[in-house]
Amino acid sequence: MIHRPLRLLLDGEALVSNWRWLRARGGDAACGAAVKADGYSLGAREVVRQLAAVGCRDFFVSTYAEAEALGAWDEGLTLSVLHGPGPDDVMTAAASPARPVLNSPLQVARWREIGEGRPCDVMVDTGMNRLGLTVEEACSGLLDGLVIETLLSHLACADEPVHPLNARQLADFHALREVIPARRYSLANSAGICLGSDYAFDLTRPGLALYGGVPVPADREQRAALRQVVCLEARVVQLRDVAAGQSIGYCADYVAPQDQTIAVVNLGYADGWFRHLAPLGAHWNGIQLPVLGRISMDLTAIAAPLGLAEGDWVAFDLDLPRGTGPLSQYELLTSLGSRFDRIWR
Ligand SMILES: *Cc1c(COP(=O)(O)O)cnc(C)c1O
Repeated sequence: MIHRPLRLLLDGEALVSNWRWLRARGGDAACGAAVKADGYSLGAREVVRQLAAVGCRDFFVSTYAEAEALGAWDEGLTLSVLHGPGPDDVMTAAASPARPVLNSPLQVARWREIGEGRPCDVMVDTGMNRLGLTVEEACSGLLDGLVIETLLSHLACADEPVHPLNARQLADFHALREVIPARRYSLANSAGICLGSDYAFDLTRPGLALYGGVPVPADREQRAALRQVVCLEARVVQLRDVAAGQSIGYCADYVAPQDQTIAVVNLGYADGWFRHLAPLGAHWNGIQLPVLGRISMDLTAIAAPLGLAEGDWVAFDLDLPRGTGPLSQYELLTSLGSRFDRIWR
């Protein structure tokens, strides 16, 4: 077993608590989970295992490669592939236990060839102009004879609750439901769930909020309810004494105002700890420690308090709703690199 000098401490209770809150917000709808991008960097397999254990049944990944990476799939759970079967996926999709989400007439044709009448999901675009059939295509007879498990659409502006596009997409989705038969209908991501249970239909698809992101950070209820799941920790590689007037790190950005001891820690921007996060600092034993100088690719210098030793673990908080500079909460989470050990508590 190789142990790495940096780790994500992942709070399984917080994950489950976030899922339960989102499920309750969705009223009678089932609550699924988006586990694309390796579970937003937390590790999709373990997220699936933990949520399945408390009753989550419906999971979403982007590609067949992500579906394959999840390994053997439990028969009681469903896995949908949001990008549908592409030209290279024909063999995989035909053999996979995952269900395709069909997004284009070509994908519909492809699934008719290889699906052997098995159920599929269908995405219809109601205003985002990203993935999915147009409403006209969906209503043209193109889908006749397909066994549609879930009809999906996706909200463009759900994290702006007053945006008029939300109500328009909701109305269009209701209209679609009248004309396209499916076993279930699904519209809401995390932010859509927070718009109210009339957006939930039969099945919701949260991602971000499961992992501690807060769709509308100004909303007190969301901030109080959604718990942080991820904490970063890295080991001190080296302690060093820096004399007053000496500089630390690239471009000599920081000059020590007095003699001080610093700790050089095994975490950098290649791990997703970007330079603009420096003001967040670090902490150890309840002591807040400022970052000194520029964050490097694999290393960060911090002020070392008395007692901190080489090899100790120092914590960095990814406080998602607190504000993340130029990057969204999504970008920060999904940038957490592959060099961490991922440890669930
Ligand atoms: C990523 C994704 C989700 C989850 O969105 P969040 O905003 O992370 O909750 C739901 N549905 C679709 C189609 C997606 O692509």
